[in-house]
Amino acid sequence: MENCIFCKIIRGEIPTVKAYEDDEMLVFSDIAPIANIHLLAIPKEHFKTVQELDGGRAALVGRMLQKIGAHAHEWGLDGGFRIISNQGEAAGQTVPHLHFHLLGGEPLPWGN
Ligand code: AMP
Ligand code: ZN
Repeated sequence: MENCIFCKIIRGEIPTVKAYEDDEMLVFSDIAPIANIHLLAIPKEHFKTVQELDGGRAALVGRMLQKIGAHAHEWGLDGGFRIISNQGEAAGQTVPHLHFHLLGGEPLPWGN
């Protein structure tokens, strides 16, 4: 998508601090962290919410969650972490490209 901030990050048009990248997923630091460790995990395919999942995208999201679990330790998400994904504007989604906030690196209060 031409004007999507996260697609621009994927294309390398906006600089970011990457934690992980493969052919279908990118993990990078949130520019406005709300926890000691605050990463964003995004699919390289542009779509907005889980309401746009088909079978292929559902499998992609499953692999993303599996990789988040596998790499959490090396990303500093020790002792537990939180995954948040806002779906739509009323929930607080400001970037219309599906993303998982990964919060941790400290004991977390409930909420965001
Ligand atoms: P949400 O409000 O759930 O859509 O989350 C969007 C997140 O993207 C926010 O936490 C922002 O701080 C983050 N964000 C926006 N622009 C950038 C950027 N250029 N690099 C890293 N994170 C960003
Ligand atoms: Zn996008």
